This record gives sequence, structure tokens and C-alpha cells, in this order.
Amino acid sequence: MGLMTGKRGIIFGVANDKSIAWGVAQQLHEAGAELAFTYLNGALEKRVRPLAESLNANIILPCDVQNEEEMVAVFAELEKQWGKIDFVVHAIAFANREDLKKPFSQTSRDGFRLALDISAYSLVSMTRCALPVMKEGGSIVTMTYLGAVRTVPAYNVMGVAKAALESSVRYLAAELGAQGIRVNAVSAGPIKTLASSGVANFKEKLRVAEARSPLTRLVNQEEVGKSTLYLLSDLASGVTGEIHYVDGGFNIAAG
Ligand code: NAD
Repeated sequence: MGLMTGKRGIIFGVANDKSIAWGVAQQLHEAGAELAFTYLNGALEKRVRPLAESLNANIILPCDVQNEEEMVAVFAELEKQWGKIDFVVHAIAFANREDLKKPFSQTSRDGFRLALDISAYSLVSMTRCALPVMKEGGSIVTMTYLGAVRTVPAYNVMGVAKAALESSVRYLAAELGAQGIRVNAVSAGPIKTLASSGVANFKEKLRVAEARSPLTRLVNQEEVGKSTLYLLSDLASGVTGEIHYVDGGFNIAAG
């Protein structure tokens, strides 16, 4: 019996085998969970479908989080096929590259809206759609970054979006606790992925994290996956509204 045997849930945010969401998916699968996946568009479906199928997933659906109809359709399909779900993984973020290159004060109104919509509001709308299907309580985990609470060079509008995301975690946790639904975030250290390649001078972030983290090394997708597994499992039954750092301790270090 695995930690997640008998539990079913959905993972938003696999783009390829370097995605943090993929690291999470592998841990959940090994722990016995049954998984559904979404992909952003047709181009990514080609990468996501074989990965999902390698973990025996049958429910693999399109979902652009800006498209409310697609989101509603995803959870309707889960209800149709499974009746109920136990967990949701939200590992999605986006900001225009140009907005991450310019000084923060030059962020465009549209760019600000876009980053906040895809990276923060999507957790709120996703949770709203998941509620009717989380019939016996559940656990929701999203991915955040230290740039929410400290300034990180070039993280700019994405830091503001992550601050909104972390606050949303707390408000959702406060609202949904009485229904047995827990909401938490994992704050990962820098990891080379498709999304992080859009952050200017990302290599420098990797170098600094490695040099200054108490663990004196970078973290990887597997480690983020293991901590997410804990938060999604009954091991964390008393934990909600938390921002859980998986960054080798970098966030505690100064200087
Ligand atoms: P990734 O590129 O593998 O994943 C980002 C995902 O967001 C992709 O699957 C992409 O398809 C999806 N996405 C973007 N716009 C979307 C939309 N409109 N609708 C639906 N999906 C959309 O990169 P990742 O680094 O694995 O990112 C996953 C999460 O982890 C993000 O929230 C990111 O901010 C967070 N995170 C990453 C790092 C890091 O260093 N890589 C550190 C901390 C937190």
C-alpha cells in the first residue's frame, strides 16, 4: 500500500520531462495515486500525452487556464469518470519575456494583468471548479518562489504575481478548511525548466543559490515532488495555508 493508494487527482503544468509538475507526478505515481493531466495546447500535447501515458493516465485534457470553459470541462470530465477527486496540483505561471527584461516600473498594464491572471487568479478559478468534485475533502498545492516576499533581480512582475498567489493560498485555506480542503504552496529554489529560461540571467540565480544555500547545492524536481507528495497526502492532514520552502534553506540565509 502506497501513501496515495486509492487517491485520485489532477496535475496542471506538465510541459515536458523537466517540468516541476512532472517531478510531482512521478512521486505521486510511485506512491500509488491515480493521475489525470492537462496540457496547454496542441504543441505541448505531443510531449505531455506520452509522459502521462507512461504513468497509466487515461484522462489527458486540454486546458488553457485563461479559458474558463476548458477549465469547467476538465472538472466535469473528472466527475463523469471518477465521481470525485482527492487532490489538485497547480504548477502554472506565465509572464511576457519583455516584461521580465525591462525595469519593473516599465511593466505594461497588459503584461501585469496577464501575469497575474495566468499565475495567480488561475489558482482561484481552478479551486472554484474543483470544489464540487472534492466531495470528501482534499488537498491543493501550488508552486511559488521566493520572489513573492523578497526582491529577486529580474523576477519583477512574476514576483508580484507570486505574492498574489501566496495570499490566495491563505484566503482559500481559510475559506475551505471547514470543508476538509487544505491549500498550500511549495516555494521551490531555482531549477532549470522551460519557464525559468524566460527569467533573465537565470544562470546567476542558480550559481547564487548553490553558493549560499545551507545545503550548499541546488534542489531538483524530485525533491519538490517529494515535499508536494507530503502536502497532498494524509501525512500533512493538519497543515493548511502554508508556504513550504524546498530551496536547500536558501530563504533563511543572509549575506
Ligand atoms: P514549466 O515551463 O515546465 O511549467 C510551466 C507550465 O505552465 C507549463 O506546463 C505551461 O504549459 C503552463 N502554462 C503557462 N501558461 C498557461 C496557461 N495559460 N494555461 C495553462 N497552462 C499554462 O516550468 P516550471 O519551472 O516547472 O514551472 C512550474 C511552476 O513552478 C510555475 O508556477 C513556476 O513559477 C514555479 N516555480 C518554478 C521555479 C523554477 O526555478 N523552475 C522555482 C519556483 C517556482
